[in-house]
Amino acid sequence: MITRYNAPWIIAYQSAGEGKDSGHRLLENGCVVVDDDRIRWVGKDYTGPVDETVTTDAVLTPGFVSTHAHLQESPVDKSLAEDSERRQFYSSTLADILPPKAKGLDVEGQRASVTYSIAELLLSGCTTVLQMGSEAEFFAEQAERHGIRSYVGHSYRSGRWLTRNGRKVEYEWDEQAGWDGFEHAKELAESLNLDNGRIRGAFYPAQADTCTEDLLMASAEAATKYSLPLTTHVAQSVFEFHEITQRYGRTPVEWLYDIGFLAHQPVLGHVIFTTGNSWVNFPGDDLGLLAETEATVAYNAWVFARNGIALESFKKYRDRGVRISLGTDTVAQSMIESCRWTSIIGKLMDKHSHAVTAGQVFAAATIEGAEALGRNDLGRLCEGAKADMVFWRTDTLSMQPLRDPVRNIVYYAQPTDVKTVLVDGKTVVDNGTVPTIDVKQAAADVQQASERVWRSWPAHDWAERDVEEHFPLSYPRL
Ligand SMILES: [Zn+2]
Repeated sequence: MITRYNAPWIIAYQSAGEGKDSGHRLLENGCVVVDDDRIRWVGKDYTGPVDETVTTDAVLTPGFVSTHAHLQESPVDKSLAEDSERRQFYSSTLADILPPKAKGLDVEGQRASVTYSIAELLLSGCTTVLQMGSEAEFFAEQAERHGIRSYVGHSYRSGRWLTRNGRKVEYEWDEQAGWDGFEHAKELAESLNLDNGRIRGAFYPAQADTCTEDLLMASAEAATKYSLPLTTHVAQSVFEFHEITQRYGRTPVEWLYDIGFLAHQPVLGHVIFTTGNSWVNFPGDDLGLLAETEATVAYNAWVFARNGIALESFKKYRDRGVRISLGTDTVAQSMIESCRWTSIIGKLMDKHSHAVTAGQVFAAATIEGAEALGRNDLGRLCEGAKADMVFWRTDTLSMQPLRDPVRNIVYYAQPTDVKTVLVDGKTVVDNGTVPTIDVKQAAADVQQASERVWRSWPAHDWAERDVEEHFPLSYPRL
């Protein structure tokens, strides 16, 4: 089945040519020709035979690629962690919020969160996600059903962090649990290949500070052997930075370089606390090591911005040759928001409008994410690429007036502007809805799951606080 889509604006991709770098281009009044699951042609006109012609007033863009997401817990962060005081942990939520949240979130709640979050992602124009967490098989089933392209990383680690007193972060080790989880990830790598390769596995040893060198390197070698993505979290908190410098005498990035992990070109979640960062003020050249090894940063601007933390800076990393992709981490699972926060915060960090542009963050959210996953057929509209495509409305308050569609999408678009989304040429968002998901039911299920988490909070918090004491409401109750 060959379909020709005529559109007023298309974000088309051009390969490198004489005197030109490869990258996105703005194509006005053009067409995209889709042959089954792949793009056959993008340009001004097409003279070959087609089975169907669709003329739209929408802007056509490649689907976004989120390289960092935890869908099974994502919405439970909402109206909880945004404004809380955590001086002792340098603003990080990891030590005193994550453990009680994880313990209170039951399997039913994790599953509700997955369905809810897939809807959020698709409705923000995201067509590929690197998912990291528990309930991997359930996630894969849901991804197969709702149509999002997915790499499924089952979470495992050799230990965990906790605090017993709200002052100190401690580590509890269970190395066998890490190896058991790795075996499960290998099984998924071998068995998970659904819907013609749309859903595959990934290797996800959870964090640099909670995994042994042996577990990290076994994961890296397995990822290379299976040609699947390798990902972890690194340099995501000040306490982790201090832990690793005390443990190994190296920064987190230096240590991953030394043991050979970076040579496997991983996707690294966050990578905020690097040498030169003002929170740690540590000499060295982490950015040079990242650039040399072609590791990719998965930047999740909002989850740090809400804690008063930012990458220092998007421009500096980029200028040093570090590849930056964008993720959604936890709520909101919106690649539109991820693009917007990345650009705004990047401008603020460098005190300069041109420090980060809409074009740069749009490329980070598409091409760079695809490259990070080893896919030169995603994140772009060109001959041979997968037909993963978003149709953006042009008749809305947020999208009009329309001169530069990239700036309108990055700075003004809303999920309600996403009209249609195709993955593998198949419709997964139709007229602004995900046909396979009852969004009201998904929201109600997540509300109930969150209420169970809030109720169980004192049982899992180190100080046995209830949720209102730990996270006071914005105003006193009347
Ligand atoms: Zn994460």
